[in-house]
Amino acid sequence: MAGRLKQAGLKVTAPRIAALGALAGPGHRTAEAVFSAVTSELPKTSLQAVYGVLAALVDAGLARKIDPAGSPALYETRVGDNHHHRICLNCHAVEDVDCAVGESPCLTPSNMDGFAVQLAEVTFWGTCAACQAASTAAASA
Ligand SMILES: [Zn+2]
Ligand SMILES: [Zn+2]
Repeated sequence: MAGRLKQAGLKVTAPRIAALGALAGPGHRTAEAVFSAVTSELPKTSLQAVYGVLAALVDAGLARKIDPAGSPALYETRVGDNHHHRICLNCHAVEDVDCAVGESPCLTPSNMDGFAVQLAEVTFWGTCAACQAASTAAASA
């Protein structure tokens, strides 16, 4: 983790290492979740400090922040691959969706007036398979 911070040009600090560790692996985590992971190692860290650390990680390109409408912001370390997200309106599960054509940007807008697109970020809202199965089960009960 320290090496990744250095590579990204960030000063190596214990809270930054702990936050990167908390974000490692697949999935998306709220600032609160990162905060509780960081404070289990560094009990004196404040939530405010964790927000600062997360902002620094995002600025340095080590983490990505997604801001689903109506939910707390989520952070992940899967960066730079132009992937999208699907979010269940019922249970709020957030899953990664790979880029539609495998390279950035994967969407061609119909009217961009010469605008050069570098990134397309899509959020698919709907109902996850588990919630659909649950509601089918409830309806037939
Ligand atoms: Zn669901
Ligand atoms: Zn993601």
